[in-house]
Amino acid sequence: MKIHEYQAKELLREYGAPVPGGYMVTTPEGAKEAAEHYETCVLKAQVHSGGRGKAGGVKLVHSPAEAFSCAENLLGKRIYPHQAGPDGKLVSKLLVTEAVDVQKEFYLAVTGDMENAGLVIVSSAEGGVEIEETAKTRPEAILTIPVSPMTGYRTYEGLPVAASFGLDAAQTKELHALLRSMVRLYLEKDCSLVEINPLVLTKEGKLLCLDAKVNFDDNALYRHPEIADLKDPAEEDPMELRAQAQGLSYVHLSGNIGCLVNGAGLAMATMDILSAYGGSPANFLDVGGSATAQKVKAAFEIVLSDPGVKAIFVNIFGGIMKCDIIAEGVVEAARELGISVPLIVRLEGTNADKGKEILRASGLSIIAAGSMAEGAKLAIGAAK
Ligand code: GDP
Ligand code: MN
Repeated sequence: MKIHEYQAKELLREYGAPVPGGYMVTTPEGAKEAAEHYETCVLKAQVHSGGRGKAGGVKLVHSPAEAFSCAENLLGKRIYPHQAGPDGKLVSKLLVTEAVDVQKEFYLAVTGDMENAGLVIVSSAEGGVEIEETAKTRPEAILTIPVSPMTGYRTYEGLPVAASFGLDAAQTKELHALLRSMVRLYLEKDCSLVEINPLVLTKEGKLLCLDAKVNFDDNALYRHPEIADLKDPAEEDPMELRAQAQGLSYVHLSGNIGCLVNGAGLAMATMDILSAYGGSPANFLDVGGSATAQKVKAAFEIVLSDPGVKAIFVNIFGGIMKCDIIAEGVVEAARELGISVPLIVRLEGTNADKGKEILRASGLSIIAAGSMAEGAKLAIGAAK
């Protein structure tokens, strides 16, 4: 799960990190009022994407009046950061924050390290908006330092970072405190990323987190209701939200073949086989092992509601999940909603014959597939 910069900064502040103050606003009037607290300030579009600076989503303003007009220009508009999709991001919230005189920009992050079953500190003395470029062209300018989740941050681990940043003794102390906060936040809140880009050295020689990005492990959210509450529904895919509410595991993709599958492994294999034959899936969807006809119906509705779907491939291997339950859900949904696209069904396993009989008796126009490969090819042909 992702959160906004202003929320990430609040969390970091709770953990003792040096973060500039600010106000989250949703109207030009709000921006003007907030700007009255500062001589100069920065208006920052709050959207779930990096690269806002280059996309015109970060603006320096010199007066409350300018804050008003700048906010008018940003709010309700879309910005197109290269990290966001082709639809860009709608701006409905702004962070108004003090403008800081920057001496140097660094990159500092804590993230997971699958290989060592721990975490890593990732840093670069060449932070700021060009970090992706640096990672590509000069990977040696990026340090990665493993940290054990058992011990948390230990001071010596940050020394190479301090050296590469060229920090003096007092600033090195600030860096240790910051890294300790970041690692503690990462571990206590089950994060998958705590990233500060840029971390800056101000004109006065202090470290300050000018931007912040914190992502969380969805599977651990049940342990952190206060974090789950930070979710901004406006930033989520509406179809994925609907699926979540039904307890379905659904990921919206950009292809044209809607998939309804049971089991995450089979769902991934279905996407693979579609791709292998030159097709492209419109979604990942695992209806789960213990779905009821009602749940299958809800899943089918979600797939059908995607305007990008030109054919639907139902690929079921009945184990715990019985094929007749799937068939019932499909028939119910199709009756209620009407299907305007070809429906390809492959049923195998527990109660497959019963399932096929239900589909046959329904009178729906269904293309039956004898195997997964045949189903994939039929679906690709039908979607063309
Ligand atoms: P991002 O582009 O989405 O990562 O947004 P950032 O918050 O990182 O802002 C982009 C860039 O704007 C930063 O790298 C800074 O160079 C600049 N910036 C943001 N806030 C300030 C500020 O208060 N003072 C100065 N001088 N630059 C800022
Ligand atoms: Mn940034």
